[in-house]
Amino acid sequence: MRSNETVDESKYLSSDYLKHMFLDFVQMKEFLRKPLIFNRGEGVWIWDVKGEKYLDGISGVWVVNIGHGNKRVINAMKEQLDKLCFTSPIYSTNPRAVELAHLLTEITPENLKTVKLLTGGSEATETAMKLARQYFKQTGNPYKFKIISRYLNFHGVTLGSLSATGIASRKWMFEPLCAGFLHVPPPYCLRCPYERTYPECDVLCARMLEYVIQSEGPSTVAAFISEPIQLSTGNITPPHEYFPIIREVCSKYNVILIYDEVITGFGRTGNMWGAQTFKAIPDIICMGKGISSGYAPLAGIAFRDDIADAFLGEEDESVEFAHGHTYGGNPVASAAGVAALRELIDHDLPGRAREMGAYLMKRLEELKELGIVGEVRGKGLMLGVEFVKDDRTMEPFPKDVRFGVQVGKNCIHNHKLLIRYAPDWIALAPPLTITREEIDILMEKLIAGVKEAVQKVKAC
Ligand code: PMP
Repeated sequence: MRSNETVDESKYLSSDYLKHMFLDFVQMKEFLRKPLIFNRGEGVWIWDVKGEKYLDGISGVWVVNIGHGNKRVINAMKEQLDKLCFTSPIYSTNPRAVELAHLLTEITPENLKTVKLLTGGSEATETAMKLARQYFKQTGNPYKFKIISRYLNFHGVTLGSLSATGIASRKWMFEPLCAGFLHVPPPYCLRCPYERTYPECDVLCARMLEYVIQSEGPSTVAAFISEPIQLSTGNITPPHEYFPIIREVCSKYNVILIYDEVITGFGRTGNMWGAQTFKAIPDIICMGKGISSGYAPLAGIAFRDDIADAFLGEEDESVEFAHGHTYGGNPVASAAGVAALRELIDHDLPGRAREMGAYLMKRLEELKELGIVGEVRGKGLMLGVEFVKDDRTMEPFPKDVRFGVQVGKNCIHNHKLLIRYAPDWIALAPPLTITREEIDILMEKLIAGVKEAVQKVKAC
Protein backbone atom coordinates (compact mmCIF):
# COMPACT_ATOMS: atom_id res chain seq x y z
CA MET A 1 0.00 0.00 0.00
CA ARG A 2 1.43 3.40 -0.95
CA SER A 3 0.71 6.85 0.34
CA ASN A 4 1.67 9.85 -1.81
CA GLU A 5 2.11 12.31 1.03
CA THR A 6 5.09 10.37 2.48
CA VAL A 7 7.01 9.49 -0.67
CA ASP A 8 9.39 12.46 -0.66
CA GLU A 9 10.95 11.42 2.67
CA SER A 10 12.28 8.25 1.09
CA LYS A 11 15.42 10.22 0.18
CA TYR A 12 16.55 9.69 3.78
CA LEU A 13 17.00 6.00 3.01
CA SER A 14 20.17 6.95 1.17
CA SER A 15 23.42 6.13 2.94
CA ASP A 16 24.49 9.73 2.25
CA TYR A 17 22.17 10.62 5.12
CA LEU A 18 22.25 7.45 7.22
CA LYS A 19 26.04 7.12 7.37
CA HIS A 20 26.06 9.92 9.97
CA MET A 21 23.99 7.95 12.47
CA PHE A 22 24.42 5.17 15.02
CA LEU A 23 21.18 3.41 16.06
CA ASP A 24 20.73 1.34 19.24
CA PHE A 25 22.40 -2.07 19.58
CA VAL A 26 22.51 -2.52 15.82
CA GLN A 27 25.30 -3.12 13.34
CA MET A 28 24.97 -0.07 11.09
CA LYS A 29 26.53 -1.89 8.13
CA GLU A 30 23.72 -4.43 8.30
CA PHE A 31 21.08 -1.71 8.86
CA LEU A 32 22.24 0.14 5.76
CA ARG A 33 21.52 -2.96 3.65
CA LYS A 34 17.78 -2.75 4.47
CA PRO A 35 17.19 0.56 6.24
CA LEU A 36 13.80 1.16 7.81
CA ILE A 37 12.50 4.69 8.35
CA PHE A 38 8.94 5.24 9.54
CA ASN A 39 7.09 8.50 9.25
CA ARG A 40 3.41 7.91 10.03
CA GLY A 41 1.29 5.87 12.43
CA GLU A 42 -2.36 5.18 13.18
CA GLY A 43 -3.55 2.71 15.84
CA VAL A 44 -1.54 -0.50 15.43
CA TRP A 45 -0.36 0.48 11.93
CA ILE A 46 2.80 2.30 10.95
CA TRP A 47 4.04 3.39 7.52
CA ASP A 48 7.59 3.65 6.24
CA VAL A 49 8.88 6.48 4.08
CA LYS A 50 8.21 4.43 0.94
CA GLY A 51 4.54 4.21 1.93
CA GLU A 52 4.67 0.52 2.96
CA LYS A 53 2.24 -0.37 5.75
CA TYR A 54 3.44 -2.45 8.72
CA LEU A 55 1.61 -3.93 11.69
CA ASP A 56 3.39 -2.71 14.81
CA GLY A 57 3.40 -5.95 16.78
CA ILE A 58 5.81 -4.60 19.41
CA SER A 59 4.48 -1.06 20.06
CA GLY A 60 7.78 0.46 18.94
CA VAL A 61 9.73 -1.16 21.75
CA TRP A 62 6.91 -1.95 24.27
CA VAL A 63 6.12 1.76 24.31
CA VAL A 64 3.05 2.82 22.33
CA ASN A 65 0.45 1.19 24.61
CA ILE A 66 -2.43 3.46 23.52
CA GLY A 67 -1.58 3.14 19.81
CA HIS A 68 -0.15 5.56 17.25
CA GLY A 69 -1.71 8.88 16.25
CA ASN A 70 -3.81 9.44 19.39
CA LYS A 71 -5.44 12.86 18.95
CA ARG A 72 -6.12 13.42 22.65
CA VAL A 73 -2.40 13.22 23.45
CA ILE A 74 -1.34 15.19 20.38
CA ASN A 75 -3.76 18.01 21.21
CA ALA A 76 -2.72 18.10 24.87
CA MET A 77 0.91 18.47 23.83
CA LYS A 78 0.10 21.18 21.29
CA GLU A 79 -1.89 23.09 23.90
CA GLN A 80 1.02 22.92 26.33
CA LEU A 81 3.56 23.94 23.67
CA ASP A 82 1.50 27.04 23.00
CA LYS A 83 1.75 28.00 26.68
CA LEU A 84 5.19 27.00 28.01
CA CYS A 85 7.78 24.42 27.00
CA PHE A 86 10.20 24.34 29.94
CA THR A 87 10.46 25.14 33.64
CA SER A 88 13.42 24.74 35.97
CA PRO A 89 13.26 21.43 37.85
CA ILE A 90 15.36 22.85 40.70
CA TYR A 91 13.32 25.57 42.37
CA SER A 92 10.05 25.32 40.43
CA THR A 93 7.69 23.00 38.63
CA ASN A 94 4.64 23.42 36.37
CA PRO A 95 0.94 22.51 36.46
CA ARG A 96 1.24 19.54 34.06
CA ALA A 97 4.03 17.92 36.13
CA VAL A 98 1.97 18.36 39.31
CA GLU A 99 -1.09 16.95 37.57
CA LEU A 100 0.87 13.97 36.26
CA ALA A 101 2.41 13.15 39.66
CA HIS A 102 -1.06 13.37 41.22
CA LEU A 103 -2.65 11.20 38.54
CA LEU A 104 0.10 8.60 38.92
CA THR A 105 -0.57 8.33 42.64
CA GLU A 106 -4.21 7.55 41.84
CA ILE A 107 -3.05 4.38 40.09
CA THR A 108 0.06 3.34 42.05
CA PRO A 109 -0.57 0.52 44.55
CA GLU A 110 -0.75 0.77 48.35
CA ASN A 111 1.40 3.56 49.82
CA LEU A 112 3.67 4.21 46.84
CA LYS A 113 2.38 7.75 46.62
CA THR A 114 5.52 9.84 46.17
CA VAL A 115 6.73 10.38 42.63
CA LYS A 116 9.90 11.61 40.97
CA LEU A 117 9.53 12.41 37.27
CA LEU A 118 12.33 11.55 34.85
CA THR A 119 12.99 11.10 31.14
CA GLY A 120 13.99 7.49 30.39
CA GLY A 121 13.94 3.96 31.78
CA SER A 122 17.66 3.79 32.61
CA GLU A 123 17.28 7.00 34.59
CA ALA A 124 14.38 5.42 36.47
CA THR A 125 16.26 2.31 37.59
CA GLU A 126 19.39 4.33 38.36
CA THR A 127 17.29 6.79 40.40
CA ALA A 128 15.56 4.00 42.34
CA MET A 129 18.87 2.44 43.34
CA LYS A 130 20.34 5.80 44.35
CA LEU A 131 17.21 6.56 46.39
CA ALA A 132 17.63 3.25 48.23
CA ARG A 133 21.30 3.93 49.00
CA GLN A 134 20.73 7.48 50.24
CA TYR A 135 17.68 6.35 52.25
CA PHE A 136 19.78 3.90 54.25
CA LYS A 137 22.65 6.38 54.63
CA GLN A 138 20.37 8.78 56.44
CA THR A 139 18.24 6.33 58.43
CA GLY A 140 21.00 4.79 60.54
CA ASN A 141 22.08 1.99 58.14
CA PRO A 142 25.08 3.52 56.35
CA TYR A 143 26.54 0.14 55.33
CA LYS A 144 23.43 -1.01 53.49
CA PHE A 145 24.56 -0.27 49.93
CA LYS A 146 24.65 -3.54 47.99
CA ILE A 147 22.16 -4.00 45.18
CA ILE A 148 21.09 -7.52 44.26
CA SER A 149 19.53 -8.19 40.88
CA ARG A 150 19.04 -11.21 38.63
CA TYR A 151 21.03 -12.72 35.81
CA LEU A 152 19.35 -12.26 32.41
CA ASN A 153 17.49 -9.11 33.58
CA PHE A 154 17.95 -5.81 31.76
CA HIS A 155 17.74 -2.52 33.66
CA GLY A 156 19.27 0.01 31.27
CA VAL A 157 22.52 1.21 29.81
CA THR A 158 23.93 3.86 32.15
CA LEU A 159 26.78 2.54 34.28
CA GLY A 160 24.63 2.03 37.41
CA SER A 161 21.67 0.45 35.64
CA LEU A 162 24.08 -1.65 33.57
CA SER A 163 25.76 -2.84 36.77
CA ALA A 164 22.38 -4.23 37.84
CA THR A 165 21.77 -5.74 34.39
CA GLY A 166 22.59 -9.44 34.26
CA ILE A 167 23.31 -10.01 30.57
CA ALA A 168 27.00 -10.46 29.74
CA SER A 169 26.66 -9.47 26.08
CA ARG A 170 25.43 -6.02 27.10
CA LYS A 171 28.13 -5.48 29.75
CA TRP A 172 31.53 -7.04 29.17
CA MET A 173 32.82 -4.26 26.90
CA PHE A 174 32.19 -1.65 29.60
CA GLU A 175 33.61 -3.51 32.57
CA PRO A 176 34.64 -2.98 35.27
CA LEU A 177 31.23 -1.69 36.33
CA CYS A 178 30.10 -0.24 39.68
CA ALA A 179 31.03 -1.84 42.98
CA GLY A 180 28.39 -3.33 45.25
CA PHE A 181 26.25 -5.13 42.65
CA LEU A 182 25.44 -8.86 42.90
CA HIS A 183 23.27 -11.20 40.85
CA VAL A 184 21.13 -14.26 41.59
CA PRO A 185 19.81 -16.81 39.07
CA PRO A 186 16.40 -16.00 37.55
CA PRO A 187 13.13 -17.99 37.59
CA TYR A 188 13.67 -19.57 34.18
CA CYS A 189 11.64 -22.78 34.46
CA LEU A 190 12.24 -24.06 30.91
CA ARG A 191 16.00 -24.07 31.50
CA CYS A 192 16.21 -23.94 35.31
CA PRO A 193 19.65 -22.73 36.44
CA TYR A 194 19.31 -25.11 39.44
CA GLU A 195 18.25 -27.98 37.17
CA ARG A 196 15.05 -28.44 39.18
CA THR A 197 11.49 -28.90 37.97
CA TYR A 198 8.55 -26.73 39.00
CA PRO A 199 6.60 -27.18 41.28
CA GLU A 200 8.72 -29.83 43.05
CA CYS A 201 11.54 -27.24 43.19
CA ASP A 202 9.47 -25.31 45.76
CA VAL A 203 10.56 -22.15 43.91
CA LEU A 204 14.17 -22.53 45.01
CA CYS A 205 15.17 -19.54 42.81
CA ALA A 206 13.08 -17.22 45.01
CA ARG A 207 14.24 -18.77 48.26
CA MET A 208 17.91 -18.40 47.25
CA LEU A 209 17.58 -14.64 47.71
CA GLU A 210 17.47 -15.18 51.48
CA TYR A 211 20.61 -17.32 51.31
CA VAL A 212 22.46 -14.59 49.38
CA ILE A 213 21.31 -11.80 51.73
CA GLN A 214 22.38 -13.85 54.74
CA SER A 215 25.72 -14.72 53.16
CA GLU A 216 26.45 -11.08 52.26
CA GLY A 217 25.25 -9.83 55.65
CA PRO A 218 21.80 -8.22 55.81
CA SER A 219 23.30 -5.01 57.18
CA THR A 220 25.08 -4.52 53.80
CA VAL A 221 22.18 -5.11 51.41
CA ALA A 222 20.12 -2.09 50.33
CA ALA A 223 17.87 -3.35 47.56
CA PHE A 224 16.72 -6.13 45.29
CA ILE A 225 15.74 -5.01 41.79
CA SER A 226 13.86 -7.14 39.31
CA GLU A 227 11.71 -7.01 36.20
CA PRO A 228 8.34 -8.66 36.92
CA ILE A 229 8.60 -10.38 33.51
CA GLN A 230 12.13 -10.65 32.20
CA LEU A 231 11.85 -9.07 28.84
CA SER A 232 15.23 -8.83 27.20
CA THR A 233 15.76 -12.56 27.48
CA GLY A 234 12.46 -13.60 25.99
CA ASN A 235 9.55 -12.85 28.34
CA ILE A 236 10.70 -15.17 31.10
CA THR A 237 7.70 -15.33 33.42
CA PRO A 238 8.02 -16.43 37.06
CA PRO A 239 5.69 -18.92 38.74
CA HIS A 240 2.97 -17.23 40.82
CA GLU A 241 4.70 -18.01 44.15
CA TYR A 242 7.92 -16.24 43.14
CA PHE A 243 7.26 -12.58 43.97
CA PRO A 244 5.28 -13.18 47.20
CA ILE A 245 8.34 -15.11 48.48
CA ILE A 246 10.71 -12.34 47.31
CA ARG A 247 8.48 -9.76 49.04
CA GLU A 248 8.60 -11.67 52.31
CA VAL A 249 12.38 -12.07 52.21
CA CYS A 250 12.95 -8.37 51.45
CA SER A 251 10.65 -7.30 54.30
CA LYS A 252 12.37 -9.71 56.70
CA TYR A 253 15.82 -8.20 56.04
CA ASN A 254 14.81 -4.55 55.52
CA VAL A 255 15.85 -4.74 51.88
CA ILE A 256 14.07 -2.34 49.53
CA LEU A 257 12.21 -4.20 46.80
CA ILE A 258 12.38 -2.38 43.46
CA TYR A 259 10.34 -3.45 40.44
CA ASP A 260 11.61 -2.34 37.09
CA GLU A 261 8.21 -1.85 35.47
CA VAL A 262 9.60 0.12 32.54
CA ILE A 263 7.93 -2.45 30.30
CA THR A 264 5.38 -4.21 32.52
CA GLY A 265 3.78 -0.96 33.74
CA PHE A 266 0.77 0.84 32.31
CA GLY A 267 -1.44 -2.09 31.48
CA ARG A 268 0.96 -4.26 29.51
CA THR A 269 0.52 -7.44 31.62
CA GLY A 270 -3.26 -7.13 31.92
CA ASN A 271 -3.26 -5.00 35.08
CA MET A 272 -2.00 -1.46 35.52
CA TRP A 273 1.18 -2.87 37.13
CA GLY A 274 3.10 -6.11 37.00
CA ALA A 275 3.00 -5.80 40.80
CA GLN A 276 -0.75 -6.49 40.62
CA THR A 277 -0.37 -9.31 38.12
CA PHE A 278 2.17 -11.04 40.40
CA LYS A 279 0.37 -10.16 43.65
CA ALA A 280 3.29 -8.68 45.57
CA ILE A 281 3.79 -4.94 45.96
CA PRO A 282 7.33 -3.49 45.88
CA ASP A 283 8.67 -0.45 47.75
CA ILE A 284 9.68 1.39 44.57
CA ILE A 285 8.25 1.11 41.06
CA CYS A 286 10.35 2.25 38.07
CA MET A 287 8.31 3.52 35.13
CA GLY A 288 9.11 4.45 31.55
CA LYS A 289 7.97 3.67 28.02
CA GLY A 290 4.15 3.27 28.37
CA ILE A 291 3.91 6.22 30.79
CA SER A 292 3.58 8.56 27.79
CA SER A 293 3.02 5.80 25.22
CA GLY A 294 6.03 7.25 23.41
CA TYR A 295 4.52 10.64 22.60
CA ALA A 296 7.34 12.28 24.62
CA PRO A 297 10.42 11.06 26.50
CA LEU A 298 9.06 10.46 30.00
CA ALA A 299 9.75 8.19 32.96
CA GLY A 300 9.62 8.21 36.73
CA ILE A 301 9.66 6.32 39.98
CA ALA A 302 6.96 6.00 42.64
CA PHE A 303 7.97 5.05 46.15
CA ARG A 304 6.66 4.43 49.65
CA ASP A 305 5.66 7.54 51.58
CA ASP A 306 7.71 6.50 54.61
CA ILE A 307 10.80 6.28 52.40
CA ALA A 308 9.97 9.80 51.18
CA ASP A 309 9.69 10.99 54.80
CA ALA A 310 13.38 10.25 55.34
CA PHE A 311 14.20 12.94 52.77
CA LEU A 312 12.19 15.69 54.44
CA GLY A 313 13.90 18.06 56.87
CA GLU A 314 15.24 21.56 57.28
CA GLU A 315 17.55 23.00 54.64
CA ASP A 316 20.65 22.81 56.83
CA GLU A 317 20.09 19.08 57.51
CA SER A 318 20.87 18.30 53.81
CA VAL A 319 18.61 15.25 53.67
CA GLU A 320 16.89 16.11 50.36
CA PHE A 321 17.33 13.60 47.54
CA ALA A 322 20.68 14.58 46.00
CA HIS A 323 19.63 13.69 42.48
CA GLY A 324 17.80 15.05 39.44
CA HIS A 325 17.74 15.48 35.69
CA THR A 326 17.12 18.63 33.65
CA TYR A 327 14.13 17.22 31.77
CA GLY A 328 12.38 15.56 34.73
CA GLY A 329 8.86 16.99 34.87
CA ASN A 330 9.16 18.76 31.53
CA PRO A 331 5.74 20.40 30.89
CA VAL A 332 5.25 19.08 27.33
CA ALA A 333 6.29 15.54 28.30
CA SER A 334 4.05 15.74 31.38
CA ALA A 335 1.11 16.91 29.24
CA ALA A 336 1.66 13.85 27.05
CA GLY A 337 1.81 11.65 30.16
CA VAL A 338 -1.41 13.01 31.63
CA ALA A 339 -3.33 12.58 28.37
CA ALA A 340 -1.88 9.11 27.66
CA LEU A 341 -2.74 7.93 31.17
CA ARG A 342 -6.29 9.26 30.96
CA GLU A 343 -6.69 7.41 27.67
CA LEU A 344 -5.40 4.21 29.31
CA ILE A 345 -7.74 4.59 32.28
CA ASP A 346 -10.87 5.80 30.42
CA HIS A 347 -10.74 2.92 27.95
CA ASP A 348 -9.67 0.31 30.52
CA LEU A 349 -6.74 -0.69 28.34
CA PRO A 350 -5.26 -2.95 31.05
CA GLY A 351 -8.52 -4.94 30.92
CA ARG A 352 -8.31 -4.98 27.16
CA ALA A 353 -4.72 -6.27 27.36
CA ARG A 354 -6.03 -9.13 29.50
CA GLU A 355 -8.80 -10.01 27.04
CA MET A 356 -6.84 -9.59 23.81
CA GLY A 357 -3.75 -11.12 25.42
CA ALA A 358 -5.71 -14.29 26.19
CA TYR A 359 -6.78 -14.46 22.54
CA LEU A 360 -3.26 -13.83 21.20
CA MET A 361 -1.84 -16.43 23.61
CA LYS A 362 -4.37 -19.00 22.34
CA ARG A 363 -3.45 -18.24 18.75
CA LEU A 364 0.30 -18.43 19.52
CA GLU A 365 -0.23 -21.89 20.98
CA GLU A 366 -1.14 -22.97 17.42
CA LEU A 367 2.54 -22.64 16.52
CA LYS A 368 3.17 -25.73 18.69
CA GLU A 369 1.89 -27.86 15.80
CA LEU A 370 5.20 -27.15 14.07
CA GLY A 371 7.16 -29.06 16.75
CA ILE A 372 9.66 -26.24 17.30
CA VAL A 373 8.08 -24.31 20.18
CA GLY A 374 9.68 -24.72 23.60
CA GLU A 375 7.36 -22.37 25.41
CA VAL A 376 4.75 -19.68 24.76
CA ARG A 377 4.89 -17.34 27.75
CA GLY A 378 4.10 -13.94 29.20
CA LYS A 379 1.04 -12.13 30.54
CA GLY A 380 -1.53 -9.83 28.98
CA LEU A 381 -0.19 -8.37 25.73
CA MET A 382 3.42 -9.08 26.62
CA LEU A 383 4.00 -12.46 25.06
CA GLY A 384 6.93 -14.41 23.71
CA VAL A 385 7.82 -17.69 22.06
CA GLU A 386 11.03 -19.62 22.73
CA PHE A 387 11.98 -21.89 19.84
CA VAL A 388 13.67 -25.29 20.13
CA LYS A 389 15.05 -27.72 17.57
CA ASP A 390 12.74 -30.45 18.85
CA ASP A 391 9.89 -29.95 21.30
CA ARG A 392 10.08 -33.55 22.51
CA THR A 393 13.60 -33.09 23.92
CA MET A 394 13.56 -29.26 24.26
CA GLU A 395 17.00 -29.27 22.66
CA PRO A 396 17.81 -25.75 21.43
CA PHE A 397 18.67 -25.03 17.80
CA PRO A 398 22.44 -25.03 17.16
CA LYS A 399 23.84 -21.54 17.85
CA ASP A 400 24.57 -20.78 14.19
CA VAL A 401 20.95 -21.40 13.10
CA ARG A 402 19.65 -18.29 14.87
CA PHE A 403 16.10 -19.42 14.25
CA GLY A 404 14.45 -16.52 16.11
CA VAL A 405 16.49 -14.02 14.11
CA GLN A 406 15.36 -15.66 10.88
CA VAL A 407 11.72 -15.47 12.01
CA GLY A 408 12.12 -11.83 13.02
CA LYS A 409 13.69 -10.79 9.74
CA ASN A 410 11.12 -12.71 7.68
CA CYS A 411 8.28 -11.07 9.61
CA ILE A 412 9.66 -7.56 9.26
CA HIS A 413 10.97 -7.58 5.72
CA ASN A 414 8.75 -10.13 3.96
CA HIS A 415 5.47 -9.76 5.86
CA LYS A 416 5.54 -6.23 7.26
CA LEU A 417 5.06 -7.29 10.86
CA LEU A 418 7.27 -5.58 13.47
CA ILE A 419 8.33 -7.91 16.27
CA ARG A 420 11.36 -8.21 18.56
CA TYR A 421 13.65 -11.15 17.99
CA ALA A 422 16.78 -12.86 19.31
CA PRO A 423 18.54 -16.12 18.34
CA ASP A 424 16.16 -18.32 20.37
CA TRP A 425 13.00 -16.29 20.85
CA ILE A 426 10.61 -13.71 19.51
CA ALA A 427 8.43 -11.27 21.46
CA LEU A 428 5.09 -9.68 20.68
CA ALA A 429 3.56 -6.66 22.38
CA PRO A 430 1.11 -4.83 20.11
CA PRO A 431 -0.66 -1.66 21.28
CA LEU A 432 -3.31 -2.50 23.90
CA THR A 433 -5.93 -1.11 21.52
CA ILE A 434 -5.47 -4.01 19.07
CA THR A 435 -8.65 -5.73 17.89
CA ARG A 436 -9.33 -9.45 17.42
CA GLU A 437 -9.31 -8.97 13.63
CA GLU A 438 -5.91 -7.24 13.83
CA ILE A 439 -4.58 -10.11 15.97
CA ASP A 440 -5.71 -12.50 13.22
CA ILE A 441 -3.78 -10.45 10.65
CA LEU A 442 -0.75 -10.40 12.97
CA MET A 443 -0.92 -14.20 13.29
CA GLU A 444 -1.22 -14.69 9.54
CA LYS A 445 1.98 -12.69 9.06
CA LEU A 446 3.77 -14.40 11.95
CA ILE A 447 2.88 -17.92 10.84
CA ALA A 448 4.17 -17.10 7.34
CA GLY A 449 7.46 -15.80 8.82
CA VAL A 450 7.88 -18.89 11.03
CA LYS A 451 7.08 -21.33 8.22
CA GLU A 452 9.65 -19.70 5.94
CA ALA A 453 12.28 -20.14 8.65
CA VAL A 454 11.28 -23.80 9.16
CA GLN A 455 11.62 -24.43 5.43
CA LYS A 456 15.05 -22.82 5.33
CA VAL A 457 16.28 -24.89 8.30
CA LYS A 458 14.95 -28.10 6.68
CA ALA A 459 16.71 -27.22 3.40
CA CYS A 460 20.10 -26.94 5.17
N1 PMP B 1 14.36 -1.44 32.11
C1 PMP B 1 13.84 -2.31 31.24
C2 PMP B 1 13.11 -3.52 31.76
C3 PMP B 1 13.97 -2.11 29.87
O1 PMP B 1 13.48 -3.02 29.00
C4 PMP B 1 14.64 -0.95 29.42
C5 PMP B 1 14.82 -0.63 27.93
N2 PMP B 1 14.31 -1.51 27.05
C6 PMP B 1 15.16 -0.07 30.37
C7 PMP B 1 15.02 -0.33 31.71
C8 PMP B 1 15.92 1.16 29.94
O2 PMP B 1 15.03 2.09 29.41
P1 PMP B 1 15.56 3.27 28.46
O3 PMP B 1 15.93 2.64 27.16
O4 PMP B 1 14.36 4.17 28.33
O5 PMP B 1 16.70 3.92 29.14
